[in-house]
Formats: sequence, C-alpha cells, structure tokens
Amino acid sequence: MNVALIIPVFNEQAVVKTLVSAIEGFRQDYPMVQNVILVDDGSTDGTLSELQVATTGLIGYHVIRFSRNFGHQMAITAGIKWCTSDAAIIMDADLQDPLATAGQMIEKWQEGFDVVYGVRSKRTNVPALQRLTAHWYYRLFRTVSKVEAPLDTGDFRLISRRVMDAYNKLPEQQPYVRGLIAWLGFKQIGIEYQRPGRIAGNTKYPYSRRLSLAINGLTSFSTKPLKLAVNLGFLVSFGSVLGLIWVLITKYVVGTAITGWASLIFAAFFFGGIQLFFLGIVGTYVARVYEEVKQRPRFIIQDIWHSESLDAGNVDPEANTGSM
Ligand code: UDP
Ligand code: MG
Repeated sequence: MNVALIIPVFNEQAVVKTLVSAIEGFRQDYPMVQNVILVDDGSTDGTLSELQVATTGLIGYHVIRFSRNFGHQMAITAGIKWCTSDAAIIMDADLQDPLATAGQMIEKWQEGFDVVYGVRSKRTNVPALQRLTAHWYYRLFRTVSKVEAPLDTGDFRLISRRVMDAYNKLPEQQPYVRGLIAWLGFKQIGIEYQRPGRIAGNTKYPYSRRLSLAINGLTSFSTKPLKLAVNLGFLVSFGSVLGLIWVLITKYVVGTAITGWASLIFAAFFFGGIQLFFLGIVGTYVARVYEEVKQRPRFIIQDIWHSESLDAGNVDPEANTGSM
C-alpha cells in the first residue's frame, strides 16, 4: 500500500522548508506515504533550488518541472498522470490543506472510498467578497452542470488508483479537476476541515485567475448559458411584438402618438449590450472548441528531479516516465 502526495508549486520559495518538514513529520505517522510529487509550475523564484536543498537525501521526493507556467489545474493533471501509487492526495503547497485532514483521508480510503474530498467549513480568514462569490459559485455550478459536485470543495482530495486511471483517460485540454473527478463518480465521501491561512507568501490566484477558473468550470460542464441566450432572445422578441401592437393601437385607435426619443436610445443601448454579452458567451464556447481541436500537449515537462539521485533528464511532453 503506497500513497503519494501531489503538490503543485508556483513561486513558493517562502513555504518550501516548512512544507518539507511538515511532510516528514506526517510520514512518521503515515509511513505508507512513500512518494511526494511536487509539480513546479514554471516558478521563477528560488523554489526549485530550495526544494532540492530541502529534500536531497530524503526518500521519495520527485520534482516535475514544467518548461513554463501552465497553471494549477495542469500541474495537478501532470502529477496524476505521473503517479503510479495506489492512492494520491492532491494538496496545496502552502499548507492550507492540513496534513491532519490528509491523514483522515487515508483512513477513509482504507475503509474503501475511492474519493475523499475536503469540505471547507466556514472560513473567516478570506475576504468576505471571495467567500461570498465562492459560496454562490459552487451552488451555481452544481445547479447548471447537473454533476453531483460537492459544495465548498476545492482540489484538496484523495483519489484511488482507479480514479487516477479513469482521470488519465480524459483528454480535456482545459481540465477543471474538481468537476471532472466529481463527474467520474466512484465511491466518494467528504471530510469537513477548517481551512487555515497560508503559512507564508502570497496567493497565486488573483481575482482574474479565479474568474477564469470559474468560467472554465461552468463552460466545460454546461451549455446552459447558450440556452439562456435562446430563451431570453425569444422573450425579448415576443415582448417587442406586444409593444409594437400597443404603439399601433395608441396611434391609430386612440389617436395619440407616443413621443420620447431618449427612452428609445437607451432601449437600443440596452439590447445592444445584451447582444454583445451573448455574443461573448457564444465566443467563449467557440474558443473552447478551438482549444480542444488544436490537440496541443497540455503541458511540457522540462525535467524531473528525484531526491535520491541527482540525475535529471529531458523527457517528452506528457510522457509518463514515472516509476514508483
Ligand atoms: N499554483 C500553481 N500554479 C499557478 C498558481 C498556483 O501550481 O499558476 C499552486 C500554488 O503554488 C499552490 C496552489 O496552486 O500550491 C494553490 O495556489 P494558492 O495557494 O496561491 O491559491 P489560494 O489558496 O489562494 O486559492
Ligand atoms: Mg493557498
């Protein structure tokens, strides 16, 4: 029985030492954690050298280094692809996903669950706006996607070998990891945990990136926004026919012409805006299709470094050279 940790790291120099010593402590209690796969997502600070210094001589650390920043979701995807363990726990480098909860996940997996995900209990250490948008986003996602996605759950989770095998068969160019794992099914269970603040450094997810992750999630699991355009378009057309009838009746039956070009201009602006908005939605889906058909490799691995031996070699993009 062999468990791996999959940890995406991007410019996390400030947390590396604490992270590695926390993991070493954790492995005392859970010796089945034989491998730690750190995916360096194109860090430009001293993350890689810090990692090498902190883990040289320790057992089972592997650093997969991307050729540039491909994003958190891609880093997780690469980690899963490379992992050959019986189970893997996906967690952040900044220890916001507590190792104590990871331990509980291993216990649940031993009881026979394939997916054990962390459910964030009420958070007080994140800005109210972020908390509120996240809260409603998870609920919206679940409603429109029709996927039984757990609420208030990020990517922190344990997945079994068969979930990893199934995940590796998904060819999505822009994977939304938490949605895809929920979509895969299998025996899933949640564990509630208090999400602490980062141990050091700053978030690598500014609002713009959070928003694009959210849009990626929605558009990869639902075509409801497109249907909304159809329904709204129908409603507005129907309403304007009624309006036209009313205008004609006032003019020819009642005999008074309705005046006022200002309201007319704003109505035109309003509907112009709606049209552009929905054109944008259609464009978003077209762009997704475009990304999919290009079939580029999803990430490029520059090299892989192992804590036990210092040989690093160039590997093919997406090649599964892992042997653990
Ligand atoms: N991360 C990554 N690539 C990125 C952005 C983030 O690999 O482009 C990693 C980051 O190093 C961390 C995890 O993803 O381990 C979550 O990022 P962060 O803690 O900044 O997000 P937050 O917890 O603030 O949502
Ligand atoms: Mg974090």
